[in-house]
Amino acid sequence: MPPEPVTQAPLAQRLAEGIAASGPIPLAQYMGEANAHYYATRDPLGARGDFTTAPEISQMFGELIGLWFADLWDRGERPPVRYVEFGPGRGTLASDALRAMRKVGLEPPVHFIETSPVLRAAQAERVPDAEWHVDLVGVPDDAALLVVANEFFDALPIRQFVKTGEGWFERLVDCTSGVFHGVVGDRRFDQIVPQTLRDAPEGSILETCPAAIAVMRQLAARLHHQGGVALIADYGYRGPATGETLQAVRGHAYADPFADPGEQDLTAHVDFGTLAQEAVAEELELYGPVEQGPFLEALGIGPRAASLAAAAPDRAEDIDIAKRRLTGPDAMGHLFKMLAVTAPGAPEPAGF
Ligand code: SAH
Repeated sequence: MPPEPVTQAPLAQRLAEGIAASGPIPLAQYMGEANAHYYATRDPLGARGDFTTAPEISQMFGELIGLWFADLWDRGERPPVRYVEFGPGRGTLASDALRAMRKVGLEPPVHFIETSPVLRAAQAERVPDAEWHVDLVGVPDDAALLVVANEFFDALPIRQFVKTGEGWFERLVDCTSGVFHGVVGDRRFDQIVPQTLRDAPEGSILETCPAAIAVMRQLAARLHHQGGVALIADYGYRGPATGETLQAVRGHAYADPFADPGEQDLTAHVDFGTLAQEAVAEELELYGPVEQGPFLEALGIGPRAASLAAAAPDRAEDIDIAKRRLTGPDAMGHLFKMLAVTAPGAPEPAGF
């Protein structure tokens, strides 16, 4: 007899069954499974998708980052390097950065760290020569690394801890009559809350992102041993600090993070302070975080926009709108931050 076909139940049903069988699950498990499904099954970017990112707004973003890398590489006496990008989306940032680098004689091998088959296919259209990896392990250790991550860390699963009258407890996800919702677990977690935050008022929420710490630790060790630099761009804050930042976005609007797991983008603001601690532990130099607006201005987005507009006068208005979306304090310029970390002894990067 042929084996029964294996039917994969929808994610919401699988999560609900798991919770019914074993009880509420940590938020990180819910968010991790939801995002893995979400990214594996679609290209979420652009006007028809759920959200838009800086490289999708304008080629200027990737070009300036490419030139930022090229400048560091040049002042560092042009060592052998590899380009590494975490979560490259459609490959747009990479193709713009690589084009800008090529113009000044920098043509590194390209390594993409990406788990989504749909996005890997989109990346292959723009950067066919790339090599794909699921993490840093397979990236060779024979050259310095030029690493960039734009809106990657915000997609990694977080845990949440809630301060109650009795202390700090983990926030878990339960499911009642098919509806997912947060509940307070019964194990106390006061020990993992930094001393300075333990006495926060009742109702305070602390978020941690173990996956981000693990990636940063591995990345920092690589930079320490092989040299290079990493640029991390995301919305975030200098923590650890209390505050709830978990959000869901669908069709360019905010949505309920507990609705439709795997069908909308779940993110949390990035704790740059905690990531920086991992870099410091590997003796890396830290720059920032600084706001995206001033960073791009310092790198010359003004003159770049002017020269693009001069070359295509009919697009001048669109170019100006894109520049303002990237740099304006009421758009991405203030909310988004850039953190750079460099190997000991590397030149000081521009823009900080
Ligand atoms: N950097 C791109 C895309 C941001 S969306 C841009 O700025 O346009 C987040 C990206 O991270 C997607 O490419 C997604 O597939 C990838 N991603 C999310 N979680 C991941 C994980 N755990 N491992 C590797 N890639 C991941």
